[in-house]
Amino acid sequence: MLINLTDVFTSEGKERVESLLYEPESFSYGSARYKIHEKSPLTLHFSNIGKERVLMEAEMRMVLDIPCDRCLKIVKEPVEIHVAQELFSPEAAGQREDQDEQEFMHGYELDAEEFVNGEIIINIPVKVLCRPDCKGICKQCGHDLNEGECGCDTFVPDPRMAAIKDIFNGNKEV
Ligand SMILES: [Zn+2]
Ligand SMILES: [Zn+2]
Repeated sequence: MLINLTDVFTSEGKERVESLLYEPESFSYGSARYKIHEKSPLTLHFSNIGKERVLMEAEMRMVLDIPCDRCLKIVKEPVEIHVAQELFSPEAAGQREDQDEQEFMHGYELDAEEFVNGEIIINIPVKVLCRPDCKGICKQCGHDLNEGECGCDTFVPDPRMAAIKDIFNGNKEV
């Protein structure tokens, strides 16, 4: 998915539109791998805004299958890419002091897949819950607690409370 932008960088006032498919079926992030459930084409609009200067506007939306943080149920999470940024030619990049890396630029070529990967990382939600009050799964039997109690004894008794309970029960027996 390399797009050669030499023409846009070098011809004043030049505009170009590209619409292409982001090919990967899944997105890997750290040790996690999320299935891409659906995706729109990636639309890129390039405009020359001066000598060796290009403005890129990018649009894409996709839906990722991300497991709920608590119960691991798959949540369909939309991720939108909506970017307008200036691209730097190899010449301009060398002159810049802050060297804000555009790792998806290789000379005059833009690697669209690398660009999208970077944007997914920026836009992916840090924490995904299937619902705000997800109860998670039982640590003992793995039962989905959103579907009701499993009956496991997950209550950890406070020894002081247990003592009071004993006294109470003892009194009742009398
Ligand atoms: Zn959940
Ligand atoms: Zn359980």
